Amino acid sequence: MDDGARPDGDAAELDLVEADLAAVDAALERLDAGTYGRCEACGEPIAEERLAVSPTTPFCDRHAPAPPPPGTSGAGGGPDGTPGAPG
Ligand SMILES: [Zn+2]
Repeated sequence: MDDGARPDGDAAELDLVEADLAAVDAALERLDAGTYGRCEACGEPIAEERLAVSPTTPFCDRHAPAPPPPGTSGAGGGPDGTPGAPG
């Protein structure tokens, strides 16, 4: 088996581009259908701030799988702010 069609390294980037293209395509379709800017989960309008950051997102702030905010890495704890066991 020698199926080395595409070199390593660029593959990951290609995947990202393809995913981006798919998202843009879907956004264009929603734009055409007149549903662009509305959450596909709840139908609520998506915040302009959010659209400015990711114009192709089909979900509002509540329903999008938002990545963890920068800065808070590791320091775990529940949403209540409960720290782990001390020392
Ligand atoms: Zn929503």
